[in-house]
Amino acid sequence: MYSDDPGMVMEWLCDAWRCRFNQCRSKRRKYDAEHELVPIGGHVTDLTCSQARQACPWLGAVPTLILESAQRIETVEWYANAKRRKTQRKQHQRIGRMPRFRSRKRGPLSFVCWYDGGRNACYRQVNRSHGIVAITGQNPVGRRTGGVRWRVEIHVRVSQSIRPYTSIIVNWSERTLVFSNPPRPLDVADTHRIIGIDRGAVHQAATSGGGLLDLPKAKLMKIDREIKRRQRAQTRKAKTAGYGNMRDYLKAGASKRYRREQTRIRLLYRRAHNITADWMQKTSTRLIMENDVIVVEDLNLAGMTRAPKPKSDGHGGYRPNGRAAKRGLNRVMRRSCLGLLETCLDYKIGLLDGRRMLIRVNPAYTSRTCAVCGYCDEENRESQAVFRCKHCGHTANADLNAAVNILIRGVHRLSGMDDARQTSSVQDVGSPLWMSRATLVCEPRLAPDGLGGIPRL
Ligand SMILES: [Zn+2]
Repeated sequence: MYSDDPGMVMEWLCDAWRCRFNQCRSKRRKYDAEHELVPIGGHVTDLTCSQARQACPWLGAVPTLILESAQRIETVEWYANAKRRKTQRKQHQRIGRMPRFRSRKRGPLSFVCWYDGGRNACYRQVNRSHGIVAITGQNPVGRRTGGVRWRVEIHVRVSQSIRPYTSIIVNWSERTLVFSNPPRPLDVADTHRIIGIDRGAVHQAATSGGGLLDLPKAKLMKIDREIKRRQRAQTRKAKTAGYGNMRDYLKAGASKRYRREQTRIRLLYRRAHNITADWMQKTSTRLIMENDVIVVEDLNLAGMTRAPKPKSDGHGGYRPNGRAAKRGLNRVMRRSCLGLLETCLDYKIGLLDGRRMLIRVNPAYTSRTCAVCGYCDEENRESQAVFRCKHCGHTANADLNAAVNILIRGVHRLSGMDDARQTSSVQDVGSPLWMSRATLVCEPRLAPDGLGGIPRL
């Protein structure tokens, strides 16, 4: 069990990590030919880290931070793959298979070790271009003939300064070592601005400052048209084959030309998705750079995107078919965007350590309340786009009006003017630092006729 040869020690660490990984993987299940769930390897090793040390003597001296990382990475990899397959199915991409066991023959010899605030895998700079990563461990009781503690030093050549890291990934086959860093926060400056955002299906986002943020719709619609054209072409190709129905045709394997169209359609869907995702990232970054506090409505997206209830039409009821699903696709895509924008804002703000704030407010009645006088009536909203107050005659774009309402609710929340329940959540969040130093700049440029400002404040 004891060796002075560093190569042997490194291989032992890699093997131990993979062994622990495969032990955890053996708990996963798959469907067999009879559609029964069975363990993917046929045999389950359900052990905790300490049990594994007892059961497998070669794991006894491996640092906990290595064994635990294997356990965690196995879980993350498994569920990330399950999610990836779901996304790929949705985006009309080819669906990969679920991951299996790691093998010594396939793939490199590697292991991961957590840093955990300096408990292991500590890096020390030796000179400008070299450093040492030390991995330390302890031999188990009763097996301490070679000493109690052991230590391996990995000399690394670095090309840049090492940022704070959370773990190291050692690839012993390639002789490389990767420091894995948390994502770098945005480089922001205090702006003392607060903004309200109303998200919708027509305009992706309306801001309380009077801006409408839209996806590049011309581009997306062009892709939509191209998809429709290709789908018609695909149908033609299926018809010429002379099968009675589509199912038989697909079962027979479809023609090469049909499948080629399928690939093109998939790529077009993916391009549309990429355009959307790109827009989301850029927009969320811009909003965070320009504003200290962002107020959004607390949408129940799960409820919004749920499949429509089956409605009976007296002729056997409603059954969702392919055509209906396609018709709803654009809408679904835009809706998933709504969630994506908030997700982007959420994680980017989370990295900023309290320098930015995301407030979620109750969206009820924001679209039918007047932002100038506060009068709330269903009839205020004349159409999807136009808002006209029945009380004071204030006219605006309906989305912009809602954005100002959301901003007002956010300001109420910040200053604790809401009801008791919401006030308590202000204390949970805590006021941002600049609240004591400066006043907020609220710029609702809603009323060009001199009615600007937020009278209710
Ligand atoms: Zn009004």
